Amino acid sequence: MVTEISIQEVLKKYFGYDHFRGRQEEVINNLLAKRDTFVIMPTGAGKSLCYQLPSLIMEGTALVVSPLIALMKNQVDQMQALGIEAGFLNSSMSRGEQEMTRSKVIDGTMKLLYVAPESLVREEFVGFLKQCQISFVAVDEAHCISEWGHDFRPEYRRIREIINHLPHVPVIALTATATPKVRLDIIQNLKIEDANIFITSFNRPNLYYEIRFKINPFPEIITFIKGHMYKSGIIYCLSRRKVEEIAEVLNVNGIKAVPYHAGLDPLTRSKHQDMFLNEDIHVVVATIAFGMGIDKPDVRFVIHYDVPKSIEGYYQETGRGGRDGLEGVCVLFYDFNDIMKLEKFMKDKSVSEREAGRLLLYEMASFCESGTCRRKTMLHYFGETKEVEEDVCRGMCDNCRTPKEMFDAETATTYALQAVQQTDERTGVIHLVNILLGIPNQQVTISEHDKIPVYGKGNGMMEEKAWKTLYNQLIVGNYLVKDITDYGIIKLSEKGKEFLNAPYPIQLYVHKNMEIGHKGDDGDYEEYNTYDEILFDKLKALVRTVASEKKVPPYVVFSDPSLIDMATKYPITMPELQNITGVGQGKAAKFGAPFIKLIKEYVIDNEIERSNDIIVRSTAKKSMLKIFILNHIDRRTPLDEIAEIKGISFEEVLENVEQIVHSGTKIDIDYFIEDLIDEEQVDEVMDYFMTAKTDSFEDAEKKLGLDYTMEVIRLVRIKFLSDMGN
Ligand code: ADP
Ligand code: MG
Ligand code: ZN
Repeated sequence: MVTEISIQEVLKKYFGYDHFRGRQEEVINNLLAKRDTFVIMPTGAGKSLCYQLPSLIMEGTALVVSPLIALMKNQVDQMQALGIEAGFLNSSMSRGEQEMTRSKVIDGTMKLLYVAPESLVREEFVGFLKQCQISFVAVDEAHCISEWGHDFRPEYRRIREIINHLPHVPVIALTATATPKVRLDIIQNLKIEDANIFITSFNRPNLYYEIRFKINPFPEIITFIKGHMYKSGIIYCLSRRKVEEIAEVLNVNGIKAVPYHAGLDPLTRSKHQDMFLNEDIHVVVATIAFGMGIDKPDVRFVIHYDVPKSIEGYYQETGRGGRDGLEGVCVLFYDFNDIMKLEKFMKDKSVSEREAGRLLLYEMASFCESGTCRRKTMLHYFGETKEVEEDVCRGMCDNCRTPKEMFDAETATTYALQAVQQTDERTGVIHLVNILLGIPNQQVTISEHDKIPVYGKGNGMMEEKAWKTLYNQLIVGNYLVKDITDYGIIKLSEKGKEFLNAPYPIQLYVHKNMEIGHKGDDGDYEEYNTYDEILFDKLKALVRTVASEKKVPPYVVFSDPSLIDMATKYPITMPELQNITGVGQGKAAKFGAPFIKLIKEYVIDNEIERSNDIIVRSTAKKSMLKIFILNHIDRRTPLDEIAEIKGISFEEVLENVEQIVHSGTKIDIDYFIEDLIDEEQVDEVMDYFMTAKTDSFEDAEKKLGLDYTMEVIRLVRIKFLSDMGN
């Protein structure tokens, strides 16, 4: 039998550590006693040691199933550096290499053998295993077993089948991410029902969580990074294209960034990873392909440009920040449309997979929309309900820092809980909300839930989203529970039943409407968005003067959005002015000088510190189509023909031409207008725009719509803006 002293000695001798961390020692003793073991600890807790150390003490070779070849190699290198015999087997190796590794396993000198699940389930591999003495089987990243996890690997479901070919060996499963549902899946699938479970809290006290609405993320991201003194950080987004685009935008704005995604060749990928680890760059912009097993302790921020597919995914990815226990800021840009996009991506999957994915996604959405403490919600999600103390967050999330508005929710809660009760606790939130709102859709009528007393009671009280948010709060508040085995179905808890028996006053968060009124809610955002009203008024006056000199309407000179942008960014050079929204080269040259002069004087007089931080230079890429259109206009190709050549609608061509003109480029489409519209009509519409107060198309349509078609008005408006403004 192994004594505690010797475990300590092994820890010191091989790994160089003086103490075990958290529950490592308990785990190791459990495994040494040949008992099945289940380890649930957050990333960075030190799970690997829980199987690495006992492998040295036990007879034979420990078999480690691990999903990523890159990770495997990394660990084997580390082990060998510590003087431990370790190796791996995977399809990337030559026959000779494989033979060498195998013979070391057979003669018992190898202590740790890593295999990818694909190799493990191969028939001939089973034959090989039978010749070896296996000390125990470790299943790392065990959440891969469950379709409810965020990283499902079908081969993981066959691990037990393989283990059954061996004489009794203990199993240790390890994961950093397991909701109660996923836990159950792992236990059942590996058949380790009697395993001792070791859980440590998932709380990461040094991480600050913040969720912002995704309205204009680029300037916010750039401001944020510059505000964080260019420390190391990761930006996650979902598509490769977006990864490339964001990396490019950051670079032209003076932030060193590299892209990382599975579409890049392995060489570039590992180069970019090294650049990040060596701090040759500030930021990695990545799809979730990046980060698993990356052990950079001083990642200071993790930005989610897109919403992750599940709360677990969010936890995992944000978990890569602040691993050294120091600052780690996590900002997520949330847009409900992104949730719907992600849902659409799943449409080719099987029904059950789609349903699973959808539920995870909607949990993520309500997490984002919720006014409850982010930290508590997440800990709750991982099953830490009782352990969580009241002040676990200490102001380290946006909702705790700026609490949301509350309302008296006794009646609403009563209805919401009654709906659960009266449907016999057999449905999910979406169905319950339909019942409360009295929506007689098929599901409601078939189940005859339009006949229950609470049907329609909630109609007129709150809108649909607010009810969903309310349910979310009731789940988080422990009035309702989500059944572990039937995902998505909610039931009454004891607390919920007690409430129904004797309702009492309860305060809940007001649902925040996503479309309106969000701008002022977020301190940072508001700060960013306010413009200098005094300067704006001065600019506006100057616009009027210039307009009357040049005999054009004011908006032709610079539009209000352009002026607001100037009153935010204080451009004092021509290139800076051209970066203002709606101002192109042509416009800047034609009208710009007096504006630059005014702004310069204003900046000096008022001692304004211009922050270049928020001047976002965009990349030229997206203008390919516009360049194409411009070339064809030069060649006098009719606009409808351009549409045809390019395979886009005429409408789209017009939109692009309008954008071209708005950004200040002069174009001549007379050739096209002359062919289509007679001269008198053109003059009349031109006259209208000369005297009108705005260049709004809607206003023009109201005035001219009876006599002219929309297309005519639009075309002449383009001519007008180009002739007068650019
Ligand atoms: P996990 O798999 O749980 O995410 P790892 O096994 O990769 O975590 O360990 C994370 C880091 O913690 C590694 O750098 C590891 O060397 C270190 N570590 C593990 N156990 C200890 C310990 N007892 N004392 C100090 N450092 C440790
Ligand atoms: Mg690990
Ligand atoms: Zn909080």
